[in-house]
Amino acid sequence: MGRDGGTAGTDVDVIVVGAGLAGLYMLHRLRRAGFTVRVIEAGSGIGGTWYWNRYPGARCDVPSLEYSYGFDDDLEQDWEWTERYATQPEILRYLEHVADRFDLRRDIQLATRVVAATFDEVTSTWTVETDAGERRTARFVVAATGCLSSANLPDIPGRDSFEGPSYHTGRWPHEGVDLTGRRVAVIGTGSSAVQAIPVLAEQSAELVVFQRTATYTVPAHNGALPPAQQAEVKARYREVRAVNRESVVGFGATSVLGPPTAATADVAPAEREHVLAERWDQGGLAFLGAFTDTMTSAEANEVAAAFVRSKIHEIVDDPAVAELLSPTQVIGCKRLCVDSGYYATFNRPDVRLVDISSGGIEAITPTGVRANGEDHGVDAIVFATGFDAMTGALAKIRFAGVGGRALAEAWSEGPKTYLGLGVPGFPNLFLVTGPGSPSVLANMVTAIEQHVEWIAGCLEDLRAGGHERIEATPEATEDWVAHVNAVAGFTLFPSCNSWYLGANIPGKPRVFMPLPGFPPYAARCADVAAHGYEGFVLGPVR
Ligand SMILES: Cc1cc2nc3c(=O)[nH]c(=O)nc-3n(C[C@H](O)[C@H](O)[C@H](O)COP(=O)(O)OP(=O)(O)OC[C@H]3O[C@@H](n4cnc5c(N)ncnc54)[C@H](O)[C@@H]3O)c2cc1C
Repeated sequence: MGRDGGTAGTDVDVIVVGAGLAGLYMLHRLRRAGFTVRVIEAGSGIGGTWYWNRYPGARCDVPSLEYSYGFDDDLEQDWEWTERYATQPEILRYLEHVADRFDLRRDIQLATRVVAATFDEVTSTWTVETDAGERRTARFVVAATGCLSSANLPDIPGRDSFEGPSYHTGRWPHEGVDLTGRRVAVIGTGSSAVQAIPVLAEQSAELVVFQRTATYTVPAHNGALPPAQQAEVKARYREVRAVNRESVVGFGATSVLGPPTAATADVAPAEREHVLAERWDQGGLAFLGAFTDTMTSAEANEVAAAFVRSKIHEIVDDPAVAELLSPTQVIGCKRLCVDSGYYATFNRPDVRLVDISSGGIEAITPTGVRANGEDHGVDAIVFATGFDAMTGALAKIRFAGVGGRALAEAWSEGPKTYLGLGVPGFPNLFLVTGPGSPSVLANMVTAIEQHVEWIAGCLEDLRAGGHERIEATPEATEDWVAHVNAVAGFTLFPSCNSWYLGANIPGKPRVFMPLPGFPPYAARCADVAAHGYEGFVLGPVR
């Protein structure tokens, strides 16, 4: 394929949509393989999640040393993380460094949204349209549009009548927000809220938290990263990355406690407490990995859940508030949160918890929020209401595949992919961390690197074989969707109303979208490639 344009007279070989962790590495990897690439990004800067989510307290909850690229030895040796869990500004600085270090910016077009992409069956190329009215052509399109990039602003009656400022955590103003001395409402209690609430409570005069579902969160025990610990990991980084690729969740190699070895039922009750307490004291998501069966056995899950509930009652002074903060659903079926002082924040006299589990929020008024028939006057509203996950960003692009079929129509009953990478009827389109792949159930950097490398390898193989087209078959896709459902059905993940299921978006089909278990998935992808892209149809050799 050409250096300055693409084959078949296209502008470039590959258009990548999105310049987050996935789009940046996709560009680098494809360019290294000799493809011409253009990345189109809606934001005015690179970084994706870490460009948009600037709310107070935003940080990763996979340890920074593992929530980082492993594709370049020098990069991982040179970059110094300052905290166990890096803040949003630090992760963004890291991604800016990556963009500069690998000279990525010259192929990235910022502040441009892709609004449509149409496949031409005669030439086997895509035409991509942007909100600036441009049309660009490419043989392939890679949607690196992000699983959590389409902010969800709920349609609450009177939402736009509020006279004060309101903010969504995922679209936080870049210049920052000063809430000192203000009365602030926070709507939502998911991961972003759990990170933001302790910091907002420090700033505001009064914080009112509207909770529909109580949240399980485990302490981060965040702090400065000791230089010796960083050096120790760097000395064995290849092994760390390899161990993570063999981990169900794509991380854990730097954890002192390691993966679980025993099922809950095989451990005496007193010892279970000890194992869970050790994980709680270590901090972080590894809490869910105390036993092998926490996400597959309801009884085992209840042991971990009851432990967290007992901690909530220990931390929170007012027993009624502690009870309200105590979740009843399976632990882990909504994303487990990691916090710095979340439950303790509710001991503050200036923080109030409002239970909206029965009636939701009735209305937003010009002066505040109405719930349970009561008006709560506030000066600012923070929507910590998450995202239209996994499919939201894709749904905003008018994809037209074979026969002009819309992706929205193909996915009207829920997303259907082969391996989370390909969609039948949409040749030469690749999804990074698409539905049907481990994505949000894994360390996303591990998942992204595996996808980027698979896609790049596939394009190299197509080029070597002279193929100009690849498309997932409907049969392989149906089998894959059934497989994802079967694996998810074996776990407790689908047991509650989570965004993994699309339950946070009214009208969205309820389908469990991510696939639990990274290593067997990655092995299957490798196998598919090794067997001539089994389940895909490759276009004619030119
Ligand atoms: C606050 C927060 C904390 C997180 N912490 C962790 C963590 O600790 N560990 C973990 O594994 N994951 C975490 N995640 C998930 C995180 O999204 C991923 O880890 C990762 O950043 C995703 O990278 P990405 O490139 O796939 O997507 P994104 O970073 O979401 O980038 C996608 C980009 O595509 C752009 N885009 C979308 N549609 C279009 C379009 N039509 N036209 C042009 N551009 C478009 C968006 O503007 C965005 O910049 C977190 C997410 C959030 C929101």
